[in-house]
Amino acid sequence: MTYTELHCHSAYSFLDGASLPAELAQRADELGYTALALTDHNSVSGSMELAQAVRDSGVRAIHGAELDLAGGRHLTLLVRDARGWRNLCRLLTHAHAHTRDGPGRERSEPFVELSTVIEHGEGLVCLTGCATRGVHDEPTARRLLEAFGPRNLRVELQRPYARHDRARNRALEALARRLGVKCVATGNVHAHARSRAELQDAFTALRQHTTLDASEPLRRGNHSHVLSAPHAMASRFADHPGAVRESASLAQELISCPDSLASLAAMDPQPPTLVLVGEQDAPFLGSARRMAGVLRKSTLAVIPDAGHSPQFENADAWWQAVSSFLESISSVVRG
Ligand SMILES: [Zn+2]
Repeated sequence: MTYTELHCHSAYSFLDGASLPAELAQRADELGYTALALTDHNSVSGSMELAQAVRDSGVRAIHGAELDLAGGRHLTLLVRDARGWRNLCRLLTHAHAHTRDGPGRERSEPFVELSTVIEHGEGLVCLTGCATRGVHDEPTARRLLEAFGPRNLRVELQRPYARHDRARNRALEALARRLGVKCVATGNVHAHARSRAELQDAFTALRQHTTLDASEPLRRGNHSHVLSAPHAMASRFADHPGAVRESASLAQELISCPDSLASLAAMDPQPPTLVLVGEQDAPFLGSARRMAGVLRKSTLAVIPDAGHSPQFENADAWWQAVSSFLESISSVVRG
């Protein structure tokens, strides 16, 4: 294997990625990939879907995220081990801590301070980020080197066929040499097939609150963001063969599934059932139905015989039971 894709967005990069994790996984399998990393913007929402989609394929799922730093730059983070998965989830919680209105707080886009990444870097591999908004300056790259060390830091090379691609990659390769770290090539994938390129264009226009025509300068303008065959990626980065090889060898070092995710992914994706017990709960049927609606595919079962089942004194108690149940699930997922 010459190349593994380590920077890939699914539809969970809202208004950006144009394919579902399962579509990406299937296409990766067809193209002969043995592994695929999912790195959505500030999110691991697609990780479970990817883990389930690859169950019967020759593709190994690698998990990660593209994280926004304060000031607008991006880092690509990949999970090396179970500790890394926990740290990534913590970083994402930090990134979203200010994305809702609150007392004395105004809503903003997700981001974290660089110091927060450094604090929670254990178990993660850090790639320096994408062509347009990655970390390309030496002082910041050195801070990352101090935090991650040469084993867990890579200078990321991309080639979106834009102006200055070659010059930027040469400069980044020189930076990597000075830092004593390896380069890795990535594709910044946003679609599994060319047929989705138009949808990706439409997303860009929507995201920028503009028309398709007016968004042209912001759009990608080519198909470099579509998942390509490993050999095509190797020729795209013909000037950087070491960075191509590194994508495949780094992929081999990364765990495919944190335990907590693996055990959940191994279950059959059956719709969860909400059970409401006993006649006395009748007043709460309305909220239970709404809850089932929120969890879209859930089914609501009403068991008329209260028996030894828990009773809820009021709607608050019912809601508390449901939320502590959901919390226990999320703490299993986060580890
Ligand atoms: Zn980016």
